[in-house]
Amino acid sequence: MDQNMTPEIDYSVCNNCGNCIKACKYNVLKMREWEDGQVKVYVDLPENCTGCGECAENCPLGCIWIN
Ligand code: SF4
Ligand code: SF4
Repeated sequence: MDQNMTPEIDYSVCNNCGNCIKACKYNVLKMREWEDGQVKVYVDLPENCTGCGECAENCPLGCIWIN
């Protein structure tokens, strides 16, 4: 496991379809409602990320990548 890998999301493009959450076997990504009422996908457990790339491969908009 590469501890330095973590997903990043371009929120200006993301439509919160949830595909990346379903694609991740390691529960890195979750969806929640923020204080401003917006429901957004976010990186909940970055330490779980293996850098497998499944989230990015399953994003229809290409707005999540591994860094
Ligand atoms: S790279 Fe793999 S482990 Fe990391 S968030 Fe994406 S799907 Fe999950
Ligand atoms: S798959 Fe892409 S568009 Fe869908 S919630 Fe994840 S980052 Fe956003």
